[in-house]
Amino acid sequence: MIIGAGQAGLSVAYHLKRGGLRMGEDVVILDRGPAEGGAWQHRWEALRLGSAHRVNDLPGMREMGLSFDTADRDRPARDVVREYYREYERFYDLRVLRPVVVTAVQDDGSGLVVRHERGEHHTAAVVNATDTWGAPYLPYYPGVRRFAGIQTHTAGYRSAEDFRGLRVLVVGGGTSAIGFLLELENVAERTIWSTRRPVDYLERSDLDLESALAAVAAQDAASRAGETLPSIVSGTGVPRTERIAAGIDRGLLVSRGPFAELEEHAVVWPDGSRDAIDAILWATGFRPEVRHLAPLGLRERAGGIAVTLGVSERDPRLFFAGYGPQASTIGANRAGKVIARQVLRLVA
Ligand code: FAD
Repeated sequence: MIIGAGQAGLSVAYHLKRGGLRMGEDVVILDRGPAEGGAWQHRWEALRLGSAHRVNDLPGMREMGLSFDTADRDRPARDVVREYYREYERFYDLRVLRPVVVTAVQDDGSGLVVRHERGEHHTAAVVNATDTWGAPYLPYYPGVRRFAGIQTHTAGYRSAEDFRGLRVLVVGGGTSAIGFLLELENVAERTIWSTRRPVDYLERSDLDLESALAAVAAQDAASRAGETLPSIVSGTGVPRTERIAAGIDRGLLVSRGPFAELEEHAVVWPDGSRDAIDAILWATGFRPEVRHLAPLGLRERAGGIAVTLGVSERDPRLFFAGYGPQASTIGANRAGKVIARQVLRLVA
């Protein structure tokens, strides 16, 4: 059973098929989304391919004559990715069942049982490829319940137009926060940026291999130790693209640092000064979406799930694709091969 048909789940499915398993019979893929595209189908209208990071091709996509490198950058990424994944699923006949929400995975003594809205499946192995979109993270700040304005998380962001004429506090130090600040400029009355730590701008305009490897190593160490996963941007830094450099120069992309608390209509800074705000945009990231795995008791004392090379340390029948060091489209792709090989060995 594969739970999730995003980049990670589809990549595992491709390699299982190549390894001789039959789709829809030996392998069943369940996905909660109404359409193809994994989390990309839910992203906001203004997001374009390449405006965050590179989106890597799925394995076998070039054989179909498709590549994200040559995909349309003028249309919303959510539409383009959805269309490419749809073609991919058809071409490789992956037979994803959707929309199906998996509610629990349990151990029935002889195997694993995957429970979902339409019934249950008994299986020898589960590949969890659910990523994070359904588990937005909201940090706690004193006064947050008193705040009377609009609050939106990245997962709920639709368009800058929703903030027209408002004074907006953008919270978070990653690419989403930066993208929102750029989109809101000249639409919102004013933006104020708050980050917990100083923003680590790189001198380069793209991610160099060294920072990418350091971020993956930090994710891998936390994942192996069963700790909560660190944020990706804390490991990579933010590439100083031309657009970002210009935003810094005109004072838009300059963080005010962490704030102390919120009032009904204001943000209060550590020195006691306050700014009136109408809305908060929480670009504060996500946590792994693993609620449905709770019956398996995988949570470690350190707060996370111990996963080494995509396999649960507590249960070798449980695989995690796109988790920790595999969290990006390139990581998710690599996960496909590594995990499929291990699943094939397990079920042989
Ligand atoms: P997803 O695409 O999220 O797929 C997970 C699937 O699991 C979904 O289809 C979901 O419906 C399904 N699912 C979840 N829970 C359940 C359940 N209980 N039952 C059934 N189905 C379930 N990475 C890049 O490489 N390049 C980028 O430019 C980039 N931009 C990003 C922008 C944003 C705003 C965010 C949040 C992330 C971005 N990423 C980017 C990282 C992103 O996580 C990966 O690109 C990739 O989409 C992850 O693929 P995935 O298959 O792991 O997850």
